[in-house]
Amino acid sequence: MRATLMYEAGDVRVEDVSEPSIVEPTDAVIRVTRAAICGSDLWPYGSLEPTETGRPMGHEAIGVVEDIGEEVRNIEPGQLVVMPFAFSDGTCAFCHEGLHTECVHGGFFDGYGTSAAQAEAVRIPLADGTLFPLPVGEDDELMPSLLSLSDVLGTGHHAAVVSEVGPGKSVAVVGDGAVGLCGVIAANRLGAEQIIMLGRHEDRLALAREFGATDVVTERGDEAVERVKELSGGFGAPSVLECVGHDQSTASAIGMARPGGAVGRVGVPQDEAMPGGETAFYANVKVGGGPAPARAYIEELLPDILNGKIEPGKVFDRSVDLEGVPDGYRAMADRESIKVMITP
Ligand SMILES: [Zn+2]
Repeated sequence: MRATLMYEAGDVRVEDVSEPSIVEPTDAVIRVTRAAICGSDLWPYGSLEPTETGRPMGHEAIGVVEDIGEEVRNIEPGQLVVMPFAFSDGTCAFCHEGLHTECVHGGFFDGYGTSAAQAEAVRIPLADGTLFPLPVGEDDELMPSLLSLSDVLGTGHHAAVVSEVGPGKSVAVVGDGAVGLCGVIAANRLGAEQIIMLGRHEDRLALAREFGATDVVTERGDEAVERVKELSGGFGAPSVLECVGHDQSTASAIGMARPGGAVGRVGVPQDEAMPGGETAFYANVKVGGGPAPARAYIEELLPDILNGKIEPGKVFDRSVDLEGVPDGYRAMADRESIKVMITP
């Protein structure tokens, strides 16, 4: 089958690889009908050290179950399913708490020892706990929005939940990528009264407004912090969603939080040390977040996609087949595209 491999920074190839098959009795194999390129795939695209074998890429997909292991009970061949970007057993203490990304048996589809999703097929460990059946056909017009359940919608929602977004609140969203835009959707959905979007790209800001942003801030750094404070009544936003992961964006996010407020971090950090720690301390700002338990959120978010209340699929502004994946990476890295959908 055809699959995406990254050999080093900037070097993405689509090549023939062997078909995935059942390894553990709890596995399933799905034939991918839609996949995506993630903003977090751009980190290795910018920095991966050369590798001789290539790293399989992709952690977001919808597909049709082709094969299941003998211990799989809840998933059947022929079902259309969405895979979250992490696999989980669905039965451990953390899964029961809705924190599937901390599953004691779980892991990430990171291409290191796992199959990956920018391919014609992918092996899913712990299929019963990981996969979520979708009640639509494989070419349903809602496919882009349903695909966002794999990662970006759940991740934006996680940032909103961790930053304690609620009815009537002021919210600041740092990052105008697909996750930040989904953070706007999530904040709006949870009843925020004011949603301040930080970003610089006019097309993305327009989409943010469509998703419910009430204000936009195009400044950066200290100026952005001051602008958010002005807009939110002088003291900062009680809820801040950090959807980038850079040192500067993290420091800004913490700086613009109202004393006693909360910052939800979902941008993948690039350093061990967290900037803004002292600022957070003296402002009594809570800083939390991490990999979103996308699997846990599907149940809550899916109905609003099916009934048309939210349209997160609008973050996909380009569609490619598998052979077009390398150019999809380039387009996202060049900020020509917000997010690329793949139809193998
Ligand atoms: Zn678990």
